[in-house]
Amino acid sequence: EWLDVSRFDVASVVRELSEVLGKTFRRQIRVHFDGHAVQMKGDKEKIRQLLLILIDNAIKYSKEPIDVRIRLSKGGVKLEVTDYGIGVPESEIPYMFERFYRVDEARHRSTGGSGLGLSIAKKIVDIHEGNVEVFSKPGIGTTISIQLPRKL
Ligand code: ATP
Repeated sequence: EWLDVSRFDVASVVRELSEVLGKTFRRQIRVHFDGHAVQMKGDKEKIRQLLLILIDNAIKYSKEPIDVRIRLSKGGVKLEVTDYGIGVPESEIPYMFERFYRVDEARHRSTGGSGLGLSIAKKIVDIHEGNVEVFSKPGIGTTISIQLPRKL
């Protein structure tokens, strides 16, 4: 897998992307982080793409504000995107990251997704040796939590 690795501030990637997407889609995207910068080693453009996929999904599958959290954890950083939208049934969560998989396809056809986003997101997490957790309840919302090591 080809990676363009550098040291960068992932907190500023989160802030800049949230601002651009908030303005573009006229949605409230709130970034929660106590600190200023979080240096990490990785592929900056791929991490940006990963966040774009998660925030784009949160925009498509909810109407309320979106919360993006940055948390420092032992040796790593946790990036969490929370929406208060349609949610995903527990039984479907294991399949969300498969290529072309869409939950209740008919209902979501209007948003025009391809079902590829999360499979690409998972790949980006994997090549950074991170992991993904999903917390979701239908009608309540979804949190996708990404844990990334700060050194690759
Ligand atoms: P695209 O490839 O354009 O992103 P997509 O959103 O359909 O299209 P994925 O990002 O791979 O594809 O997501 C797969 C499916 O998981 C979605 O079709 C949707 O059913 C479900 N899903 C993903 N994110 C959310 C979310 N935040 N809330 C509710 N359902 C979600």
